Amino acid sequence: VGNGVLTGLIGAGIGPSLSPALHEREAAELGLRCLYRRLDLDELGLPATAVGDLLRAARLTGFTGLNITHPAKQLVIEHLDELSADAAALGAVNTVVFTASGAVGHNTDWSGFARSLSRGLPDVPLDRVVLLGAGGAGAAVAHGLLTLGAGAVHVLDLDAARAEDLAASLRGRFGAERAVAGGLDAGPAAALAAADGLVHATPVGMAAHPGLPVPAEALRPELWVADVVYRPLETELVRTARARGCRVLDGGGMAVFQAADAFRLFTGREPDADRMLRHFETL
Ligand code: NAD
Repeated sequence: VGNGVLTGLIGAGIGPSLSPALHEREAAELGLRCLYRRLDLDELGLPATAVGDLLRAARLTGFTGLNITHPAKQLVIEHLDELSADAAALGAVNTVVFTASGAVGHNTDWSGFARSLSRGLPDVPLDRVVLLGAGGAGAAVAHGLLTLGAGAVHVLDLDAARAEDLAASLRGRFGAERAVAGGLDAGPAAALAAADGLVHATPVGMAAHPGLPVPAEALRPELWVADVVYRPLETELVRTARARGCRVLDGGGMAVFQAADAFRLFTGREPDADRMLRHFETL
């Protein structure tokens, strides 16, 4: 595409993704041409395991790179030639760049979260942070928190084994004192009583899973609260925590900054992340 880039997203059910609009608008602002295509596994009638075929086809047809989302962030790894250290540590790739030496996998979910937190809640204490949700988003958040220097992350999940697996992996990477897992038997309130902040990374609060993931009474005004859910931006957790006097961060920043970091990898150009965030808020 001349002085431009051909990029896109592989995933299932990605029709509502805002990535095409975010990438194409920012490219236009920088005087670059960008075409960002949706390669929707559902629409193509393909299983997640087809991600390798799609990747090869994209490379052959001149794509610059691709974003990868559910359900292919792990499956894609065996089809890559190289992994960034962070993507290897996380075992998940959301950005693939085609270079002369092959397909290189990166993870910008964790860096997107880290940037969103640093920008949106600068100077909040990070000595002890409760992370609710140990899935893909939770793993990226935990990596971001500990990379930012959080003292310890307390991982909670309905699936206790999943929480323990994530905590063990974090201890292996960041040190024995840096992560613990707890069951939810006593409820999240007990963990929150001793915490500086809460990051929420379960689907609770999305339209299909309405509700509040922790009891409102556990949201003390001294606690900061970050949600990763961004549809809607104003979740019941964000609304309730703000009303109770907590400093809050919605999930929009993580979504936008992962796109900004991917854009930089695709184009080699520095996007204006604040401009992308303002654009996102109009979408
Ligand atoms: P996932 O299915 O991989 O993980 C969700 C985890 O939450 C599971 O381990 C599940 O057991 C746990 N869980 C569900 N309900 C719970 C509850 N009430 N209490 C404790 N644990 C509970 O999903 P994911 O890919 O990690 O995504 C989670 C959410 O994060 C999504 O719904 C999405 O809204 C959001 N997300 C946001 C961004 C962003 O850029 N802002 C990026 C990725 C995901």
